Amino acid sequence: MQGTSPRCGRPSSRQALVALVGAPNVGKSRLFNRLTGSRSIVHDRPGVTRDRIEAVCEWNGRRFRLFDTGGLVPGDRDELTRGVERQVLKGVAEADLVVFVVDGRAGLTPLDESLGKVLRESGCPVLVAVNKVDAEGQEGRTAEFFKLGFADPMAVSAEQGRGIAPLLDRILDRLPLEMPAPEPSGGEVIRLAVVGRPNVGKSTLFNRLTGEERAVVSSVPGTTRDPIDAEFVHRLRRYRVVDTAGLRRKARAQGESVEVQSVERAVATIRGADVVLAVLDATEPAAHQDLAVIGECLRMRRPLLVVLNKMDRVARGRAEEILQEAVGRLHFGQEVPVLPISALQGSGIPKLLSMLDRLAEECGRKIPTPGLNAALEAAVRLRAPSAKDKVPRLFYIAQTGGFPPSFVVFTNGARIEPSYARFLTRQLRKDLEFDLAPIALKFRRRT
Ligand code: GDP
Repeated sequence: MQGTSPRCGRPSSRQALVALVGAPNVGKSRLFNRLTGSRSIVHDRPGVTRDRIEAVCEWNGRRFRLFDTGGLVPGDRDELTRGVERQVLKGVAEADLVVFVVDGRAGLTPLDESLGKVLRESGCPVLVAVNKVDAEGQEGRTAEFFKLGFADPMAVSAEQGRGIAPLLDRILDRLPLEMPAPEPSGGEVIRLAVVGRPNVGKSTLFNRLTGEERAVVSSVPGTTRDPIDAEFVHRLRRYRVVDTAGLRRKARAQGESVEVQSVERAVATIRGADVVLAVLDATEPAAHQDLAVIGECLRMRRPLLVVLNKMDRVARGRAEEILQEAVGRLHFGQEVPVLPISALQGSGIPKLLSMLDRLAEECGRKIPTPGLNAALEAAVRLRAPSAKDKVPRLFYIAQTGGFPPSFVVFTNGARIEPSYARFLTRQLRKDLEFDLAPIALKFRRRT
């Protein structure tokens, strides 16, 4: 399994975040591996957020997190430019510093120039790394990149490993020594439910997330003691793990089956939560009970991440198969993000935290009305609603709330087929870039 490096194990909300951005083929992934020493956590699987690679870098006793949002962007030139620009914006939105990678052999390209413009306008600190300067005496290649308007482009060769140490030095120079203490944005607490069958590792995960050994963990079901409500902060968001009692209250069958009792309990917990982490055990097939809880989340449109825990106990060659099996069992007509982790060893935890962050960001998003209506129009152009009698017309759309984002589409009152509602939901999520958050769509007759 990938990402078992213990260095990546401890969540830390104080680690600075550095984004690697650049046009395709400039050698970003090579450089990423050089900078991180290949300790990257790579997930590029169905249902898991696409094309984000993240790793912890350690240099001279200091640490920062490095991420690369860029996967390959398909499409023609225009689409490619837009796609890369979007990735750059994503990087800028999250990072404390951007490392802008360009190709010293190819020279300054129009795409570099347009990315440079986006970066300058963002106001984010930028370091330019001129890659593919493979040999002594080629440093002159950096000269033309001064045009981008950032100080001192640095010559590196990811291939040969040249210039990597000075680049790391410079990155650390530009990062604040100590990140400022995280303040939750807006003071809102995100209520997080951790649900799953007894012994799947909920308490262990809870400990990981809160970063403290506060809960008593035992391998014998029913032996854990009373919990303490816990909050943790990650990337300026505050999370409160709700119903920590339920985390370790093991079902005591009193005429009721253990299974029924725990599903009901989990559903009650889900109702009181903003975001749900459903924990599955990778060493056992997902049980009916797991599926019932996850299905309920989807029905209630609860923002959900499924984690497949205990991946450290899965034989190396079987990891992918086990993951696919879990993804397969969880098909409820929509994609459910499934993330492999080991709560015990800490692998996958940084990725989980960054997915949580992304999910929370998406859930709290307010989409400006023009963009929303443009997305509706695009979807209708792609496929217009049809009906046997009265043809539905969709006039406009408005956002009515968040967590998860909910919308109302105003219509002429004609019946909308469920299959069309599903299509529209899917299309809007795609267009508005909701990778993880569900959205709720309602239809109302325009008065
Ligand atoms: P809960 O009942 O869901 O809260 O489960 P616990 O957190 O109490 O974990 C049950 C048992 O599984 C304990 O012995 C844990 O140490 C073990 N465990 C939890 N997570 C992992 C993991 O990622 N890998 C392994 N190998 N064991 C784990």
